[in-house]
Amino acid sequence: MNIERITARSISDTRGRATIETTLTAGPLSATASVPSGKSTGSHEALELRDADGGVATAIAHVQGEIAEALSGRSFATADEIDLFLIALDGTPNKSRLGANALLSVSIAAERLFAQEANVPLWRAIANRAGTTPSAPRLYVNVMNGGVHADFRLPFQEYILVVNGDAIHPMAKNVSAADTYEPLKHAYAAAQQAFAKLGERLGSVALGDEGGYAPTFAALDEPFALLADLVKEFPGTSIAIDAAASELYRDGSYQLLGKSYAANELSFLYEDLVERFPFHSIEDPFSEDAADDFTRFTEALGGKILVIGDDLTVTNPARITEAAGRQEINAVLIKPNQIGTVSEAILAVQETHDAGWKAVASHRSGETNDTFIADFAYGVGAHGIKAGGLGQKERVEKYDRLLAIEQEAGVL
Ligand code: PEP
Ligand code: MG
Repeated sequence: MNIERITARSISDTRGRATIETTLTAGPLSATASVPSGKSTGSHEALELRDADGGVATAIAHVQGEIAEALSGRSFATADEIDLFLIALDGTPNKSRLGANALLSVSIAAERLFAQEANVPLWRAIANRAGTTPSAPRLYVNVMNGGVHADFRLPFQEYILVVNGDAIHPMAKNVSAADTYEPLKHAYAAAQQAFAKLGERLGSVALGDEGGYAPTFAALDEPFALLADLVKEFPGTSIAIDAAASELYRDGSYQLLGKSYAANELSFLYEDLVERFPFHSIEDPFSEDAADDFTRFTEALGGKILVIGDDLTVTNPARITEAAGRQEINAVLIKPNQIGTVSEAILAVQETHDAGWKAVASHRSGETNDTFIADFAYGVGAHGIKAGGLGQKERVEKYDRLLAIEQEAGVL
């Protein structure tokens, strides 16, 4: 494939900050991609290139200038070839020269072009590339937002209802030909009902960055009691949090609701919550460099719940391999913009699976209407997908895309 034309422009993400949208053209084919942006970013993430004023003019100039010139006149047989070419062109370990945002916008658009050329849906192209079996992910619906996504109205960043479509409709495969097996449809319907129910219970409250409710509570375990009620009401659901503990960490301890916790005290707090409430997973229970605390915690609780690395592993295959060697976690969050190319995000999933761990694909707190993450999650057969709460359109679009994928998969 020859990329003939590359254009890029600045669009606004859901927080009104600039982000990059890129369009590639090859003969009659054309594909567009935009990239999301995090707020609770890990310090080991690839670099998101921003100008002093917060804009992405330099990243755009790189796409339309150096990257466009380098790609022009060359022929690429696969999307992987393009990614390898981009990585070499940037030449830095963390994409700091051309920008991970610039590279990822090209990488995702290229993936779409190759899917079009092969005449297969995007999720199928990703599965073919990754050597994975596509499957429906659990929905990690971020129903209550806290931490830096909601001015710390709640201490943890994400209070999640995990919805497992298979558990809601376990026998569907055998029921009848007319009642098709659609775990995502069932999961999403349950998520919508649960989200509305929670809204009724909370009354009028603000929304956080990811379209979940942002209430306040005096006690740490009140939101978990509410979530546990939902779990009782909605079979196939369970509780997860993203503690995003790097954001709670100050001078060697963790600050929660005005109290200071040493790492072992925070461990006890989590263990107590897991004892009392129906937990499925805890993401980033400790700060990004507290590897030993992760290992101890996973040893203690890894048999009961998933301990997910995000800021710890930053979708970086080398960091995931390192974490595997020390058994720091048993699941990994996969955010393509933390690493900067689709190839490396796929490699991160493969490293995760090689470690015997689960992969959870994730959006970012600053999003666009691009639904790539839904195709990615389904294509790599991820255990779950974090796509936010149901109070904002850009989050709902990811779930809508998953339902469309489920239909596509059913007819192919
Ligand atoms: C997260 O921490 O998992 C997350 C989605 O938030 P952000 O995009 O702000 O890193
Ligand atoms: Mg996180």
